[in-house]
Amino acid sequence: MKTCTYDCVYCQLGRTTRKTVRRQRWVDPSDVVAQVRARLESEPDVIALAGSGEPTLHAGIGDVIAGIKRLTDVPVAVITNGSLLSRPAVRRGLADADIVLPSLDAPDDSLFQLVNRPHRALRFDDVVDGMTAFRKSYRGQVWLEVMLLAGVTGIAAEVERLAELAARIAPDRIQLNTAVRPPAESFVAPVAYDSLQAFAGLFTPHADVIADAAPAGGDRIAAHADILALLSRRPCTVADIAAGLGIHHGEALKAVTALVAEGALDLQTHEDRSFYVVATAAAENPQEERS
Ligand code: SF4
Repeated sequence: MKTCTYDCVYCQLGRTTRKTVRRQRWVDPSDVVAQVRARLESEPDVIALAGSGEPTLHAGIGDVIAGIKRLTDVPVAVITNGSLLSRPAVRRGLADADIVLPSLDAPDDSLFQLVNRPHRALRFDDVVDGMTAFRKSYRGQVWLEVMLLAGVTGIAAEVERLAELAARIAPDRIQLNTAVRPPAESFVAPVAYDSLQAFAGLFTPHADVIADAAPAGGDRIAAHADILALLSRRPCTVADIAAGLGIHHGEALKAVTALVAEGALDLQTHEDRSFYVVATAAAENPQEERS
């Protein structure tokens, strides 16, 4: 079940099965914290909260972050679509995270409806204002991710408008991405890497192109979360993962080896081929993912 405020056409988790703006305690925060504690011995660089959908829909996300902070000094990152940042309670819940990575995929309401297919209660201007308000009050790092789609938002005129909005939000970093992974809708196509590089210069600060880049440092947050998201849908070989996520075979192998060592993935053999699957304990609680 994918629970989200959006139903993005590019979503690698498939279509949203539960579209809502109602925050709930979907899982017990102490269970999530316990799972993090059990995996700390692998000495992660960062603990990323992502989820099978939108993590700020969990009303206890602040308790999860606080619980992890009591356990460890490892930085906590939250990967969010940012749609609920207009709500003071959501901003308070994220206050103790070290990095928040919200998304901005459209420069106006009509493209917002086309790309993100938001819950009917959400207004584009409120979403942008919420991100701006969050940036002003939040003391941690804000890394804004901009997803560009070929022929839709990945054209110069739209990117210029996105860059204006991004400047208003004033994030610490901007990351440009495109649909290199299997999307929810087959008409979605990625923007060419050279075009992304050219568009990056339109942003202030200058954007980093993360599509097709070898995951490293902070980008590893997304890479591991992406692998877990892909494998939550179906078992994959290393070659499947590399092709599905648009990453190098060696990077895919390195990532799954680390995830197996952490207990997040299991290896299964079928007809002499090795498939990676989400480990049983991790699958029971898909709200928490980490690198
Ligand atoms: S891409 Fe993220 S925000 Fe969009 S539908 Fe998927 S989980 Fe939700």
